[in-house]
Amino acid sequence: MKLCMIGTGYVGLVSGVCFSDLGNEVICVDKDIEKISKLKKGIIPIYEPGLSELVKKNYKANRLSFTTNISEAIQKSNLIFLCVGTPTKKNTNAADLSQIFNAAKEISYNIKSSKIIINKSTVPVATGDQIEKIISKKVKRKLFSVVSNPEFLREGEAIRDFTYPDRIIVGTSNKKSNRILKSLYSPLISKGAKYINTSRRGAELIKYASNAFLATKISFINEIANLCEKTNVNVEDVSIGMGLDKRIGGRFLRAGPAYGGSCFPKDTRAIVDTASKFKTDLSIIKSVIASNKNRSKLLLLRVSKILKNKIKNKKISFLGVTFKANTDDMRESSSLKMIPSLSKKGAIIKYYDPTGYKKEFAKNKNVFNSQSIKDACLDADLIIIHTEWNDFKSLNYKKLSNKKNFIIFDMRNILSYDKIKKDKVKYFGIGRELINLIQILHLLQQQHLKANYWHLQQHE
Ligand code: NAD
Repeated sequence: MKLCMIGTGYVGLVSGVCFSDLGNEVICVDKDIEKISKLKKGIIPIYEPGLSELVKKNYKANRLSFTTNISEAIQKSNLIFLCVGTPTKKNTNAADLSQIFNAAKEISYNIKSSKIIINKSTVPVATGDQIEKIISKKVKRKLFSVVSNPEFLREGEAIRDFTYPDRIIVGTSNKKSNRILKSLYSPLISKGAKYINTSRRGAELIKYASNAFLATKISFINEIANLCEKTNVNVEDVSIGMGLDKRIGGRFLRAGPAYGGSCFPKDTRAIVDTASKFKTDLSIIKSVIASNKNRSKLLLLRVSKILKNKIKNKKISFLGVTFKANTDDMRESSSLKMIPSLSKKGAIIKYYDPTGYKKEFAKNKNVFNSQSIKDACLDADLIIIHTEWNDFKSLNYKKLSNKKNFIIFDMRNILSYDKIKKDKVKYFGIGRELINLIQILHLLQQQHLKANYWHLQQHE
């Protein structure tokens, strides 16, 4: 089939390349001239494992091309995928749909034959109706249909997620469009992906609800981790114990920093905003947003406590600054809150990320990019493991820091607790801190006394 992807970012590039690898002719369009000229030279603008090889292979096979010429791309294709950004609108919680509406206008100027417009961007329920309205101002309705086909890939695992999705959601009541899309996805369906045809609005809401639910899972286990720290319970045990229940599932149940990235923060805000426009109160998601906002403050307080409130001139090493491993995406990463705050308090910060220098910290005082883990950790008073890159899992931290009393704060619980104990390193994790056993016994005794007291009161 002949496809064009409007927007060649994480979603447009990955899905475009994967569609071409399935044998389709794909044109990736972007208005960013630099991005397109880099791609034409084989330079991949994002860090995503396996992507570079796949781009080169399909570009060479002439199944994949890159352009800034949107009209030519639309005219040459039958299926037009919308993969543009839907960030949060400035000073609001609403989704900024200007990229979607501008692209819809451009599509409307260029439809000369029958086309299916498929929206992969994450949008509030009923946005498809608005896209249809914009296009129908210039094009007869029988010449096009607008379908919702939300994307569920995760950065860092994007190619695998696209190729082996749990489900493919297609929102349309147009039988022909549904048949064509089912055929496009048939190589993935034959490998086990479930194909679900629903209403367009239904598909739009499935995406928002899924992201909000996953964000809820993360915030839930983060709060349980807070309780674990006070009760000498290992949160990893709780995650495993809960996750083995098939109704719950273990994924997205690992405690750590505040969730970030280009999806969960903006999508939770946007679904709450959309719901309020429909006079519906999504109180659970609202409290998830508040809990996540509080998470970075809480972890910053913890850093303060670990350093006994003496942050000024302390050398802090940050390992990993992206919002998750295997991506270079810094959007809404919790490091963007933590590093500037610690820098303001006078800390001297060196950060190392496998994806290199980050311009986001350029204006922060005493924040330096290290080219190696070794350089970042040298002389550190505190090493913060912020992102769960494999690179940080098996290091000899004792050798890396030549400071005698250095401390590790492992925000992802990636280090082996037994090994750390054996090495006698001063270590703090998330939801796995040991508190004084006497303190616990005292707490339990108090609770026991209280329970006995209420028991006696009730039976008197
Ligand atoms: P992105 O910002 O990385 O890429 C969007 C691209 O669209 C940019 O390169 C921009 O230049 C281009 N663009 C904007 N308007 C254009 C136009 N009129 N013509 C041509 N190009 C145009 O965004 P992304 O991370 O790929 O996300 C895209 C959408 O997919 C969002 O709605 C997002 O919520 C959703 N999504 C993202 C992910 C993810 O992991 N990043 C996963 C699932 C869904």
